[in-house]
Amino acid sequence: MSEKTLFSRIIDREIPSEIIYEDEHCIAFRDISPQAPLHALVVPRKPIPKVADAAAADAGLLGQLLLAAGKVAEQQGYADAYRLVINNGSGAGQTVFHLHVHVLGGRAFKWPPG
Ligand code: AMP
Repeated sequence: MSEKTLFSRIIDREIPSEIIYEDEHCIAFRDISPQAPLHALVVPRKPIPKVADAAAADAGLLGQLLLAAGKVAEQQGYADAYRLVINNGSGAGQTVFHLHVHVLGGRAFKWPPG
């Protein structure tokens, strides 16, 4: 059996985190190194390594992640302006290979992103 991802260990409460949202498909917790006043990670319970690894059968789950990200932003008081980021692959900055959506809010964001 392959080793559990860091985020699966958070989902299973083996590693502590500040969980702020949970449903049957996914969980959201605060990023340990926040880059904005709100910086949460929305993570599917299913450990898909990265978005490029998602299959057609995961289409509904991908939608659930975006809906959950919006709920987290709203629940945390940032419904009007927030940014969602998915890093795909180490060249794009991905460091944890369990798909996740960053939810950032509470500061000005530049475009194009860095
Ligand atoms: P990425 O670089 O897109 O793969 O994002 C991984 C994110 O996970 C980074 O923003 C890290 O700060 C965050 N992270 C790593 N370990 C933990 C942890 N134990 N609890 C919460 N966030 C974490």
